[in-house]
Amino acid sequence: MKIHNFSAGPSILPPQVLLQASEAVLNFNNDNLSILEISHRSKPFVDVMEKARALALELLGLEGKGYKALFLQGGASTQFLMVALNLLEKRAGYLNTGSWSDKAIKEAKIFDDIYEVGSSKSANYNYIPKGYDIPTDYDYFHCTSNNTIFGTQIKEFPDCPIPMVCDMSSDIFSRQLDFSKFDLIYAGAQKNMGPAGTTLVVVKEDILGKVSRKIPSMMDYKVHISKSSMFNTPPVFAVYTSMLTLEWLKDLGGIKAIEKENEKKARLMYSEIDLNPLFKGFSVKEDRSYMNATFNLVDDTLKETFDTMLKEAGISGINGHRSVGGYRASMYNALSLDSVKALVEVMSELESKA
Ligand code: PMP
Repeated sequence: MKIHNFSAGPSILPPQVLLQASEAVLNFNNDNLSILEISHRSKPFVDVMEKARALALELLGLEGKGYKALFLQGGASTQFLMVALNLLEKRAGYLNTGSWSDKAIKEAKIFDDIYEVGSSKSANYNYIPKGYDIPTDYDYFHCTSNNTIFGTQIKEFPDCPIPMVCDMSSDIFSRQLDFSKFDLIYAGAQKNMGPAGTTLVVVKEDILGKVSRKIPSMMDYKVHISKSSMFNTPPVFAVYTSMLTLEWLKDLGGIKAIEKENEKKARLMYSEIDLNPLFKGFSVKEDRSYMNATFNLVDDTLKETFDTMLKEAGISGINGHRSVGGYRASMYNALSLDSVKALVEVMSELESKA
C-alpha cells in the first residue's frame, strides 16, 4: 500500500532522490566507495558541496548579488544563536509568530535586549501580526516565514529599513519571493531540502563583520565563508542528499513550477476543511500556511473512527503538534497532489458516515 507521508519534519523526499542517495551509500561516483567513507576534501565531495551551494543561490535567484550559501550543522536552532552572535550589537527587532520565533528570541536575549515588534502569542499564534513598525536604528529584524506548528505563513514581508533575517525552515524553495529583500535566510534541511543534519544559510556578505564581540570560529559566518563551507567536516550525506533534492527541483522547473503544485495542494486541502462541517481550521484564513494545514475535528468523539480510516488509507504523520492538538497535514514540495486527494477523500468519507 502506498503511504501518504504528511510528516512535519523530517519529512517526505522525492522517491528518485531517495534512490540516488541510497545508491551513493554503496557506490558513489562509480569509485566503488561509499559517500560515507571518502574524504570530504576529495574532489568528488568538494564538487558536491560547490554544486549544492551554487544550486541554492540559483534557485533563490541570488547568484551574483553578494550572497554566499553555507551548509552548516546544529539545526536551525543553532542559527537562533549564530544570528545574534554575528549581527547583534545593540538591539534587534523580532516578530513573534510561533514557538520557533519565541525560541529565536530567547536565544538572542542571551546577548542583548530584544524588542518584539509584534506578537500573536496571546492568541496561541493563530494569526500573523501586521502593521507593525520596525525601528530604523536597530541592528536587524528577524521573522519566521512559515510557522510549522501553528500553520500560519507570512504572505507579505515588510519593506525593511534594516537587515532582514528570516527563518525559512519550513517553506524554503516552496514559493516565489523576492529573496533579495532578505539579508540572511536560514533553513534546516529536513523539510523541503533533504535529511536532518544540515542547515542552509544564505547570507549577504556585506552585513557581516560589524559587531564588536569576538565570535568563536564555529559560530562565525565569515570563517565558514572563507573556508567555502568546509571549515570542519561537513555532514556529507545530508549535503549530498540536499544537492540531489535541489537538482530535482531545478529539473522540475524550479520554485515557479513547484509553487503551482503547492497552490493546488493547499487549495484542495483548505476547501475540504472549510466545506466539511466536521472540521475546523486552526489559523485565520488570510494567514494560512501552504505547507502545514492545521485543523481540528469539531466533535472529538469521531477521533477514533477518523484515525482508523486514516490508517487504513495509508495516511501517515498528520497528528497535530501538542501545542495545537488536532491534525496537521504537512504538504512539502515532494508530497504529491494525489496524497492530498487521498486525505481529502477520507475526510469526506467521514462526513458521509457521520
Ligand atoms: N524553525 C522552524 C520554522 C522549524 O519548523 C524548526 C523545526 N521544525 C526549527 C526552526 C528548528 O529546527 P532544528 O530542529 O533543525 O533546530
